[in-house]
Formats: sequence, C-alpha cells, structure tokens
Amino acid sequence: MTTITLVQGDITRQSADAIVNAANSSLLGGGGVDGAIHRRGGPAILAECRALRASHYGKGLPTGRAVATTAGDLDARWVIHTVGPVWSATEDRSGLLASCYRESLRVADELGARTVAFPAVSTGVYRWPMHDAARIAVETVRAAETGVEEVTFVLFDRQAYDTFAGQLGR
Ligand code: ADP
Repeated sequence: MTTITLVQGDITRQSADAIVNAANSSLLGGGGVDGAIHRRGGPAILAECRALRASHYGKGLPTGRAVATTAGDLDARWVIHTVGPVWSATEDRSGLLASCYRESLRVADELGARTVAFPAVSTGVYRWPMHDAARIAVETVRAAETGVEEVTFVLFDRQAYDTFAGQLGR
C-alpha cells in the first residue's frame, strides 16, 4: 500500500527521493512548476534534458510519458519529467493524465525511489479543472501497483489543497 500525503507549498522545497515535473514535451523548460524546478535545481537538469532530447526524444517526450534526470541542486535525488495533456472541453484526455501518474510511478520504481512528490499536473497553464485533476490523480495513485511507499501531492495554494483533501475524504 502506498501512503498518500498532502502538502501545501512549493514542490522544489520537497525532499522526496523523486519530485515530478509538470514538463512540456520539449523538455527544455517552461513556466510554472517547470520553471521553478530549473531555477532552483540549476543548469545540470537542463543539460540532462537536452541530452535526453538528442538521444531519445528528437520529436519531444510524448504526452502521458515520463522520464528521469538527476535533481541538480534540489534536495531530491531525481526529477521525473512528465508531460500532461492540455485540457479539452470536447475531447476526453483523462487517460493521458492518468498515464502521467502511472508512468511517473513506473519510472520511480525503476530508479528505486521510495518517496515521490507530485504537483497537480496539467492544472496550471494546461487549464485542467482542479477537482477533476485531483480525482484522476488520487484514483490513479491508489490503483497503481508500485513499490513507492509514499506519494506526496504538493499543492501550490489552499484551494488546490482543499480540493485534493476532499478527494481523499480528509
Ligand atoms: P501544466 O503546464 O501541467 O498545467 P503548471 O506548472 O503550469 O503545469 O501548473 C501545474 C500546477 O502546479 C498548478 O496548479 C500550479 O498552480 C502549480 N504550481 C506552480 N508552481 C508550483 C510549485 N513551485 N510547486 C508546486 N506547485 C506549483
């Protein structure tokens, strides 16, 4: 069983074995969580992302997939970069959002990470409604077969925290 913990705050301050980045497919940085991770983690993360781009993901990391780098100056050991789907009102992309959580945990298992911190993937620039994103995140982590012992959802503001707490019945 994986324990689920909630924290309100900045994911770059977490000391989990791995923190998950809400990246974009370029792997070359962006705003939100992505910008914060690269700012605080320093240039080593971007250098590894560039190398991954060149060696494996010339067309970019596909939506719903995840890949790891080291964590530079962050307290974590690894950053797991996953690409969330952009919200669509006309197309159901929830399978892709669930895949971000599943694939990130699969990569965490490969690394041997025991503790993993996730942001609310796709709920920023990609505009996914928080309550639906929280439902998908919680259901997917609960259903995952993983050796990860603790998943922490790190929510940036009170409203997001309360939405996740509601999903968890807390
Ligand atoms: P996406 O492009 O997948 O929507 P964003 O980074 O724009 O990703 O936003 C994802 C979520 O992360 C949003 O709810 C946003 O408020 C939140 N967020 C932004 N910065 C941080 C941070 N430093 N730590 C934790 N959560 C953050």
